[in-house]
Formats: sequence, structure tokens, C-alpha cells
Amino acid sequence: MARALIVVDVQNDFCEGGALGVEGGHDVARGVAARIAEGGYDLVVTTQDWHVDPGTHWSTTPDFLDTWPVHCEAGTPGAEVHADVAAALAATDMPVAGVRKGAYEAAYSGFEGVDADGTGLAGVLAAAGVDAVDVVGIATDHCVRATALDARAAGIDTTVLVGLTAGVAPETTQAALDLLREKEVRLV
Ligand SMILES: [Zn+2]
Repeated sequence: MARALIVVDVQNDFCEGGALGVEGGHDVARGVAARIAEGGYDLVVTTQDWHVDPGTHWSTTPDFLDTWPVHCEAGTPGAEVHADVAAALAATDMPVAGVRKGAYEAAYSGFEGVDADGTGLAGVLAAAGVDAVDVVGIATDHCVRATALDARAAGIDTTVLVGLTAGVAPETTQAALDLLREKEVRLV
């Protein structure tokens, strides 16, 4: 049995002051960094929204449900992992991996991402023998939701550490948590 921590999209653009800042983003980054510093996982995987030309995912008149302001453009500071998390990852003894998603289309789930070798998240987890994951990050109602659902659907024992997530809006966050519970994702 191996347990991984999946850190979903804790990127500058998703924290307060970023292009698509989510309230509580910086707190999530601090909390996730502390969790990484505690250790105890067999693998830590970060996911990053990493857009080149994601089509209608970007909009000048976003609805904040299916269309969004320009964010996480590949290679920009906004697309970088939050500095607190990056520092914790640099300091940890735990194995670390990273996947990026959404270059040319919307991609909410980390399972749509690939690492530098082109291996998808499912492959990265399988290579490490991971059969249980804790999911944290931004946003609860979008990418955390999609990533946790895909993890569970892949037969992985999946827990969302709700206190280490931040949501875009209260209604969609509540709906996401209800759905996750229904799909047998553990909420802690
Ligand atoms: Zn995006």
C-alpha cells in the first residue's frame, strides 16, 4: 500500500491577487506546505493548469462556470506553483512528481495531465504503487472535484482534505462536496 498527496492547481493565478484568484488560496498554499513538511506520503504529485490556447475555456466575458478569464498561461508567473508549496517540495525527502494539463482545451481533472515524459497521472500513481490518495488544492468545486472523482473512479481509495481546499463559490462547493460523498470519496 502506498499513499500519495495530490496537490491540485495551487498556482499563483488561483490565489488572491492572481488572474483568477480564489478566496482562501494563499491559506491553502500555506496549509499544504505545512502538510508536505510533515511528511508521511510515499509520493507527492502537483497538478498545474497549463494553458497555451485552451479555446473557449478562456473568455473576455466569463461565466465562472464553463468560461474563465485568461489564467495559467504556460510559462508565466501566474502558472507557477505557489512559492510556499514549491519551497516545501524542494525541502522534502518524499518523492515528488508533477503533471500539467489543459494546453489546448479545458482540463479540470489532474488525470488529464501528463508529466515531463508524457505519462499521465494514473500512470504516475501506478508506477509508485499508489492505491490511496489525499487530494487538496484549488478549486474545491472544479479541479479538486474532478480530480477526486477520477481517482475514485480509478479504484483508488480517495480522501479530500476539505480544510486544505478553497472553492470559487459556496453553492457549487457544497454541491461538489455532496457529489463526492455520494461517489464514496471520503471527506475529512
Ligand atoms: Zn484553466
